[in-house]
Amino acid sequence: MHIKKITASVFAVTFTLGLITVNFFNHFYAEKALHKDAEQLLYQFHDAMLEAHDILENLPDPDTFQCSEEDVKKLAMLAFEHPAVRLVGVLHGQEQHCASENVHIDLSNYHQRTLNPDKHVLKDQLSLATVTHSDEHLDLLMVRSHENSRYFASINPFMVNYLTEFACMNCLEYDFVIQGLPNLEFKSKRIKQPSYIEYTASRMESDVKVTLNLRGTKAFYIYYQELSWFSTVAFSFVLATLLALFAFKLLTIRQSMDRIIKDAIKFKEFTPFYQPIIDSKSNEVVGVEMLARWVHKDGAVVPAYQFIPFSEDTGLIVDITEQLIKKMAKDIKTLKWDQSDKFVSINIVPDHFKDNALYELLESLMNHYEIAPSTISLEITERMKIDNLPHARACLDDFYKKGIDLKLDDAGTGYGGFSYIQELGISTLKIDKMFVDTINSDDLKSSVLDAIISFAKSSNLKMIAEGVEHQHQVEYLKERDVFMIQGYIYAKPMPIAQLQKWLQERD
Ligand code: C2E
Ligand code: CA
Ligand code: CA
Repeated sequence: MHIKKITASVFAVTFTLGLITVNFFNHFYAEKALHKDAEQLLYQFHDAMLEAHDILENLPDPDTFQCSEEDVKKLAMLAFEHPAVRLVGVLHGQEQHCASENVHIDLSNYHQRTLNPDKHVLKDQLSLATVTHSDEHLDLLMVRSHENSRYFASINPFMVNYLTEFACMNCLEYDFVIQGLPNLEFKSKRIKQPSYIEYTASRMESDVKVTLNLRGTKAFYIYYQELSWFSTVAFSFVLATLLALFAFKLLTIRQSMDRIIKDAIKFKEFTPFYQPIIDSKSNEVVGVEMLARWVHKDGAVVPAYQFIPFSEDTGLIVDITEQLIKKMAKDIKTLKWDQSDKFVSINIVPDHFKDNALYELLESLMNHYEIAPSTISLEITERMKIDNLPHARACLDDFYKKGIDLKLDDAGTGYGGFSYIQELGISTLKIDKMFVDTINSDDLKSSVLDAIISFAKSSNLKMIAEGVEHQHQVEYLKERDVFMIQGYIYAKPMPIAQLQKWLQERD
């Protein structure tokens, strides 16, 4: 049930986030598309202007122009050959004298704003005319001939409506602004729809700035929304499903791991292995560290790293430790160490400070098996955070009063460091393998090893070097008064029967 709830939440969150993200990218893409169109339109406009110039510059002297049928054909031919040019004609005063098409241009509605000829390249050739063409008002952008302004060409740069690519007619509208001195504006007055995206593209043509305002209208936007709706939902759904499945898988693995470990606890499969700690001066075994192993019914041994981190995460380590300690008490008896000066170290975690179950267990076992408390030692790692140090200290004081001491494991590798040593009443530092490995290397950490050793000495802390594998490491440590050695150089962790044999062989 719990897993299902979490999986459903993962799905819901991912799905929502997916919708938001994809939607954002769709809008981004829509704007990009508009940007591209605006650019295209600007280029088309520019090309249309050039075409118109080209025509006007090559027309004969207007005075020789007769407006004969042949002349009109010529104009029509020119307009036909230049797709961006709509009309080509010649004016006579305010009158349209002759044009490529048989239309009447009502020049009473003609607004002319001529660009300042000195200020820019386009000179006086561009003007806006509102003309009437069979009852319809049209805005024409006229290019006038440079010489005498009598020839004109109306350009229609947007005749190629490639915007139909978007599969919606009239879904894009545009304003056209040519800014120079003075400004000439060309605006379609027929745009009535509210705009949703506005994009302005500008290109400088010498002193003349051509600006195009392109708007995505409602139709454009709705089209885009509909287009993106399906892909957005589909993408988010797939993403959310995949993540939810992944979460479900992970959670079930965790849950089954939890169940398997609980079963292993029930069937008492956790077994202590022991790794000897030797005094390199006397070559005597001073104690052992108890290390957890999971021994399956078939005898297969699971190493600590495969179940300890999970067990520590979930708190199952407390039950595992309890099981190990019970077996350990018997083993101490087997070794006849119950009244000796040797010790067995137990790895504990901050969870053990939650109540005094560990203390009570050890006390009852020591009473039952008549084990001297000095035989028992605790190890806590510097890598794990203890939230309430004074409380931990109060718990530990019960052990200290009995005569059970505490060693700091993995010294120098965690964040507990100095505060743990100050506040927890540590008796011994266990120098981590990481530092032992640096002996005789130019690794920077080798200076840390020396620093840890001198710190321990000045603080009157005992030391155990862990992970010692080579004789030269033993010698190096010995020179610096670190005599207690735990490592493969002497022995690996082993089950009680093997330890017993190993100890006998040393005698
Ligand atoms: P640790 O407490 O630092 O234990 C020392 C580890 O170093 C052991 O690994 C030991 O086998 C290994 N070791 C010792 N000497 C050498 C050496 O010369 N070379 C190499 N390569 N390794 C060496 P192990 O038994 O696999 O345990 C790993 C860790 O799992 C322990 O590190 C400890 O943090 C945790 N652990 C093991 N048993 C328990 C337990 O009962 N309770 C808790 N809370 N943690 C445990
Ligand atoms: Ca340890
Ligand atoms: Ca360690």
